[in-house]
Amino acid sequence: MIDVLVIGGGNAALCAALMAREAGASVLLLEASPRDWRGGNSQHTRNLRCMHDEPQDVLLESYPEEEFWQDLLKVTGGKTDEKLARLVIRASSTCRPWMQKHGVRFQPSLAGTLHLSRTNAFFMGGGKALVNAYYRSAEKLGVQVRYDAPVDRLDLEGGRFVAARVRGQRIAAKACVLAAGGFESNRAWLREAWGQNERGEWPADNFLIRGTRFNQGVLLKHMMEQGADTIGDPSQSHCVAIDARAPLYDGGIVTRVDCVSLGVMLNRDGLRFYDEGEDFWPKRYAIWGRLVALQAGQIGFCIIDSQAVGRFMPPVFPGVQADSLPQLAQRLGLDVGRFMHTLSDYNAACRPGTFDHTVLDDCATVGLVPPKSHWARPIEKPPFFGYALRPGITFTYLGLKTDETAAVRFGGVASDNLFVAGEMMAGNVLGQGYTAGVGMSIGTAFGRIAGEQAARAALKEATLAQA
Ligand SMILES: Cc1cc2nc3c(=O)[nH]c(=O)nc-3n(C[C@H](O)[C@H](O)[C@H](O)COP(=O)(O)OP(=O)(O)OC[C@H]3O[C@@H](n4cnc5c(N)ncnc54)[C@H](O)[C@@H]3O)c2cc1C
Repeated sequence: MIDVLVIGGGNAALCAALMAREAGASVLLLEASPRDWRGGNSQHTRNLRCMHDEPQDVLLESYPEEEFWQDLLKVTGGKTDEKLARLVIRASSTCRPWMQKHGVRFQPSLAGTLHLSRTNAFFMGGGKALVNAYYRSAEKLGVQVRYDAPVDRLDLEGGRFVAARVRGQRIAAKACVLAAGGFESNRAWLREAWGQNERGEWPADNFLIRGTRFNQGVLLKHMMEQGADTIGDPSQSHCVAIDARAPLYDGGIVTRVDCVSLGVMLNRDGLRFYDEGEDFWPKRYAIWGRLVALQAGQIGFCIIDSQAVGRFMPPVFPGVQADSLPQLAQRLGLDVGRFMHTLSDYNAACRPGTFDHTVLDDCATVGLVPPKSHWARPIEKPPFFGYALRPGITFTYLGLKTDETAAVRFGGVASDNLFVAGEMMAGNVLGQGYTAGVGMSIGTAFGRIAGEQAARAALKEATLAQA
């Protein structure tokens, strides 16, 4: 019998598989996707957030534990487990040498990304290269990998893992790690979680899924039915405004539109609805998916002029271009009169200041509702560009409750041999909100803990059986 069964094939699963194998356990990893699509949402990532007290290879200056914690506290509005959050933060300061040992390479952050050179370590080649490096290392170490292996349920006995079922086949193991992502790819579940709004719309029907199509939440739902303790609200997720032309799944990072803070955002009725310059973009980009989801038709329109060009990472699809604002409104399918009214009001309200996108500058609007607090410059220099944006779900926060051992819990009691990592438990640390790169910090920290704990549980069982 296999010692440790790892369910999932992204960052958290791979970290768990590698740690379990290093601890001496035999390991089988079951990935729902075919080999070509392996790696879940992790294949789309670019970096992880790391605590450090002094400059380290690709990381500038310092990012102490307290600052990381305060950032997390702020974005989650206190909906976080401090013990587990600090565990993740501390682990983020020591994980990179281990990642490098398994073939992951880092590079300095790119100019024009989310100003992350101090806080986030970027993977050379992105998440795809990270995932490929981990698979290579895992295979070299003797981890068995099965693709096209979606687990649909588990056999449990009093909170203990006994076996997993893959299309009717029973796979027994001494311990198991669940790292099968959230339920962000499951459109029916998203629909149910978001419900119907006051306009009679089902907002989730207009969501796009930025990552894998394989995170259907089958095991999450199954575990909930089995009485596992859960954490988080099903309607909470990391949700970004992305190009409305993005594909339904796997559009990835290149469909994100990062010029909101340089322009204005309008809804279908041609009205602004939120302060585009409230704070630095890395601290605000993850609220715009939800803000757009609350608008009629779940669509928003980001409008910029030529002054913004070159100040943000261009998305994969070029914006709709026009030489005048009325022409832009027309090309975006918006009411020209209302559009011009909003733009004229905005332009007139911009107070002269010294524009500087790298600081919270003094270019703000006066007397406008909602205000634009920083980087407010009249949109007046052609050519003009517009991007239609939709909510793009990154991952959901509903997950399994756990503790510092990564054990799954039933009625408050920790399982002896069933562990959880990654998106499936990220809600313990992220009750709401997000700060860039923390998804991979959580997955790496808990993937490693879960793998080590699962190996320990499996090897203990083997020792007991021999005695
Ligand atoms: C476009 C995009 C960009 C992102 N960028 C970043 C970033 O730069 N930094 C960051 O920290 N986070 C980023 N994230 C979030 C990040 O991807 C997640 O936090 C992280 O990858 C979660 O890792 P995971 O292993 O838990 O999940 P995943 O990587 O999604 O892995 C889940 C795995 O489980 C498999 N699976 C699902 N169901 C089953 C089943 N029933 N049986 C077997 N296998 C199953 C899936 O196929 C998949 O391989 C990004 C996400 C997206 C979509």
